[in-house]
Amino acid sequence: MPAVYFVCPDNRKVPIVSCLNNCPHKERCMFLPTLRSIAISSDRKLSKPSVTELIAGTRETYLKRTTDYAIDPFDSLFALHGQAVHYMNYKKQGDNILGEVRMEDEITTGQFDMFGYVLNDKKLTLGDLKVTSSYKLMKALGIYKKDVPTGEVYKSGVKKGMPKYKKETSFDGVRHVMDWALQLNYYRMLLEDNGYDVNDMVIQAFCRDFSTRVAMERNIDRPLYIIKINRISDRWLQRYFSYKAQNLKEALNNNDIPPVCTAKERWYDRKCLGFCNVADKCPYAQVLKQQQEKLAM
Ligand code: SF4
Ligand code: SF4
Repeated sequence: MPAVYFVCPDNRKVPIVSCLNNCPHKERCMFLPTLRSIAISSDRKLSKPSVTELIAGTRETYLKRTTDYAIDPFDSLFALHGQAVHYMNYKKQGDNILGEVRMEDEITTGQFDMFGYVLNDKKLTLGDLKVTSSYKLMKALGIYKKDVPTGEVYKSGVKKGMPKYKKETSFDGVRHVMDWALQLNYYRMLLEDNGYDVNDMVIQAFCRDFSTRVAMERNIDRPLYIIKINRISDRWLQRYFSYKAQNLKEALNNNDIPPVCTAKERWYDRKCLGFCNVADKCPYAQVLKQQQEKLAM
């Protein structure tokens, strides 16, 4: 099922159809065409699960497909902005770059953003556009803070005699790009299955909170980053996506909610507590929220 409700700024849930026909508030919270675009972008009727649906937790995808859920149109603006950027990119092109082509195999279906000589004229590059946060960029670029000794020791207090440390930024950490790598590699495999050679896979990431203090603290000092994605073995990809597709299919056929999303898929609970559109329908998120409320009392 697609999203059925919009969450208004006052937290009221209004059916999307009613919102588009006649906002019950004094004035709309954003332009009608913007709301229409958000409604269209959240209503993709695919019978086969998409690559992005299979990358998400199976429980999340199951609940999105089986329940009437609500989305906050303000949260969808970044995705919409990404789509507007895609549109600008393709509108003027008169070259041989392929854009927004949907491909499929027996497991899944996916639509890549662009493929061709998009970075240089030597390598056929599969490119993907992301609009993301400075936090995600910091993780994707392998930037992290570590404690380094200052050479001084505490002269008094409980830590007397112990070495002092300061935080230093390092740029050689693990690059947390697994979701992006799974997505691009699957599109690459679909292209190669159709006879194309893919020489490179690259993400062009716009930072949506660029120039804020918190972005600077994370050493994200540019609005846009180019991030290369490494190849993943086709055999591994096929096994992983087949496994996820099979689990989803069984859950849908048996009308049986799948096990809770993995810790990584639920961003170690951060997603359940603030970023999952179906958290209201998910028993795990309900328990988490109750625990949080108890702690806050
Ligand atoms: S326009 Fe905004 S405030 Fe009005 S119903 Fe739609 S989401 Fe709610
Ligand atoms: S609330 Fe958490 S566990 Fe439940 S579907 Fe969403 S991400 Fe998965």
